[in-house]
Order: sequence, then structure tokens, then C-alpha cells
Amino acid sequence: MNIPETAFARASAPEDDGLPREVDVAIIGGGLMGCACAYYLSKAGARVLLLEKSTLAGQQSSRAWGFVRQQSRDEAEVPLMQASIDIWRSLERELQTDLGWRNDGCLFVAGNEVERDGYESWLPVARSFGVDTVMLSPREVMKKLPGYAVPQLGGLFTASDGQAEPTLVARAFALRARERGAYIVEQCGARGIDVAAGQVVGVETERGYVKANTVVCAAGVTTFRLLKLLGIDLPQQLVRGTVARTTSGPALSGISTIANGVGFRQRLDGSFNIADDAHVDVDMTLGHLRALHWYAPSLWAQRKSFRFHLNGACLTDLHQRMPWSEASRLGAGIHRRDPLIKPNDKGLATAMRALKAAFPGQVNTQIADRWAGAIDVLPDGIPVIDAQTSPLGLAVATGFCGHGFAMGPIVGKTLADWITTGNPGLDMRQLRLSRFAEGDVKPPSSLF
Ligand SMILES: Cc1cc2nc3c(=O)[nH]c(=O)nc-3n(C[C@H](O)[C@H](O)[C@H](O)COP(=O)(O)OP(=O)(O)OC[C@H]3O[C@@H](n4cnc5c(N)ncnc54)[C@H](O)[C@@H]3O)c2cc1C
Repeated sequence: MNIPETAFARASAPEDDGLPREVDVAIIGGGLMGCACAYYLSKAGARVLLLEKSTLAGQQSSRAWGFVRQQSRDEAEVPLMQASIDIWRSLERELQTDLGWRNDGCLFVAGNEVERDGYESWLPVARSFGVDTVMLSPREVMKKLPGYAVPQLGGLFTASDGQAEPTLVARAFALRARERGAYIVEQCGARGIDVAAGQVVGVETERGYVKANTVVCAAGVTTFRLLKLLGIDLPQQLVRGTVARTTSGPALSGISTIANGVGFRQRLDGSFNIADDAHVDVDMTLGHLRALHWYAPSLWAQRKSFRFHLNGACLTDLHQRMPWSEASRLGAGIHRRDPLIKPNDKGLATAMRALKAAFPGQVNTQIADRWAGAIDVLPDGIPVIDAQTSPLGLAVATGFCGHGFAMGPIVGKTLADWITTGNPGLDMRQLRLSRFAEGDVKPPSSLF
């Protein structure tokens, strides 16, 4: 199926409602970043409009594995993730909603020396930030993952990490934001951001114009299109990741785990989310030539991680470039309202085999549901989170490179604080939008 099966309760206003004529902040994109931002802004008393071209959290934010981890992150993200974990711990209480939160840790098991050395190399980062990450011995790994049946050399473990249910979190933020007065609209795309004399003054939507002195652009994989309309060149690209949910298996562990090439987390009902940890798919289009020079070195260095495909995506992309296409008419990424993203069944079969090889007790566990998502990436493997950019009043949260679910709560809170008080509360310099124009971009530890 195209999206995880959990149905989304309507958090938005009915479609025939008009839009407010003026708000303090308009947010483009009803993924986790947009919904969390809407919640914290409304909580701070701002008048908020959240525009979603399709369904709330219909894209990346409901399709994630559900890992909430600090470990193995780029240093630029660690303080944010530490603050995010603090929020996660009490988020179910704050939002009065079950979010599937389990604070049972994250474990990457090393199958060989290269992996072990790679994992170990993150320990100095953990120490410098005071994260509770440790290297477990093989015996300690066996205690965490009883019955693990393939050779291993220990693992990287962070007890304070956890997991949560992507199908629930953004929606919960949206519902609570609406209760606090936020205007949340589905099936209504933003067509552009209006700027006068260097200051954001409004947003052009499919249902008319709304005045706003601040616009948050959190439009996932189409953010670069909206920014391009403002003359800002963001070298954003996309890759495809596949996930499956299984039937219930015997209780194994609540730890978000990568082991034997498979990423998995088990829910309390026994079902797992699993994914082929080592690979993502790239459906080649002309769009992938854009900004290629930014990516070429990493693509080469990480070439074993990418499966390149020349398929229908290329033809669709060509068609969308024609002046008469819906894409050209609507602009701003609205044409791909509810894209059908095909899961990679071969990769899932590999992941399932790897899970069963590692845990023979799961022999009867089967795939129950599967989906794929377009992951937005940036060349340095870290996002843009910025509310102090040019034009004035533009805020951006995008490019989370396959690990933004865990950061959602703190991204929403940070942007809301930044917009309402002028102070983000954390040092956000490394995540600024202008780093690409300035050429101040370091190589990524990983692109996704
Ligand atoms: C397969 C997969 C596995 C992942 N696993 C993890 C994980 O385990 N842990 C983790 O931390 N992260 C994970 N991630 C990454 C995480 O899901 C994303 O980083 C995060 O959800 C990004 O949220 P977002 O709000 O920026 O984007 P999205 O959720 O993509 O939301 C953007 C929204 O903007 C809307 N939009 C676009 N253009 C417009 C427009 N013009 N007008 C109005 N609306 C518009 C879209 O319809 C969309 O709903 C995973 C991602 C995928 C795909």
C-alpha cells in the first residue's frame, strides 16, 4: 500500500471553509515539522495557519521507521537531539495521546571490525556532549538481544534513546494545535511566498491570499521549489526508502536496533517495523542532475548504499517539465499531491531474511504491510533549520536526511521560540540556510 495503514483522523478544517485573511505565522507543509511548529506557536499565543497540499503527515512523517536516536548523529545535531529526547519523555502527557513511545534505547550491532571501528568512532562525540552512549561487549549485546544467532563483535548502545509511532505523532501535534486555535487546512497547497521590500508579507494559496509577516517553509522534498521562487537555491535532492510492518512475533526487545543489515523496532503488540538498513533507492530523473556537483563525492564514497533505477520516474519528470503540464501550472510542488511511492520488495525480503537469521525465534513472523517514502537530503547530511534568514520573516525547516522524525518536537519548539521571542535557545549556526550560498559545507558522515 502507499502509506502506512493507520487512518488519519481529521485534524483540519472542512474543505469549504474560507481561510483567515491574516495570521501571524503561515506554515507550509503538514508533516511533523509543520505540525509541531503549529502546536508550539499556538501554545505561545500566535495566530497560525498550517497549509497542507494533501493529507497531514501523509509523506515522510508517517512513513519513518520510528527510531528516536541521538547516537551516531552529526555533531551539529546532537544538542538538538538531546533537547528533543527531553521533550519526547513527556510528550505523551503534553499531547494527552499515546504515541507508542518506548524509552528502551538504541543499539547498532557490529558484524565485523569495520562496523565496530565505525561505531566506536562516535564515542568521543558522545563523551563531548555528555550522551550516555557506550560500546557493549558481545556478551552484553546478547543480554540486550537474547537469542541473537549471527556472529557479532559488540555494539554501540544509548540507553536514553527510544522509539515512537510515526503514524501518530504529527497528527497529535496538529489536533492539539487546532484546539489552541491554529487554523489547519488539508488539500490546500501554498503556491508561493509573497515578499515586499525584503520582508515576507503573505502566502499565496490554492484558496487565495493570506497576509502573514512570517512564513515557515517545511514542505519536505518540495521545499527547494518554493525557495526557488524567492531566488534561493537549495541543493535538495530525494531518495526512496522502504519500510515494512510485520505480524506480531515473540517478544524480543524494545530497543531500536540495527543488526545483521536490518533495522528494526518492536512494538508492545509484538509487531516490528523493519527495513533494509544498508540501502536506499534513487529513481533517476533530470532533477537529479541539478546540484549534482554537491553530491558527486558522497555518491561515489557511499555508492554501495544506493540502488539507482532508470524507470517511469524519468518520464514523469520529463512530462512535468512541459509548459502545459499540471506541474508547470500549479508550481511549488503541488502537482505531486499524493505521490505513489513504490516499496522495494526485494530489499524488504532481504531484511526479513536477515531478521529471521539473526533471531530464529521469529521464524513465523511475516510482513503484514509495507510502504515507501521519499526522503529529502542535503549534501552535508544535516538539515536546514533557520528563522533568521533573508528575506526577513522566512523560516525554513527541511532536509532532514532520513532522520528528522526524532528531531520533530525540538524543531517545532525551537522555531516557535525563535519566531516569537527572537531566541532559538540553541546555537543554530551550523544549520543555517545560507551555508550553501557561502560554500561553508562539510562532507556528510552519511547522506541519509
Ligand atoms: C522510509 C523512511 C524512514 C525514516 N526513518 C526515520 C527514523 O527512524 N527516525 C527518524 O528520525 N527519521 C526517519 N525518517 C525521516 C523523517 O521521517 C523525516 O525527516 C521527517 O518526517 C521530515 O518531516 P517534514 O515535516 O520535514 O517532511 P514531510 O513529512 O515530508 O512533510 C512535508 C509536507 O509538506 C507538504 N507540502 C509540500 N509542498 C507543499 C506546498 N506547496 N503546500 C502545502 N504543503 C506542501 C507535503 O504534502 C508533506 O505533507 C524516515 C523517513 C523515511 C521516508
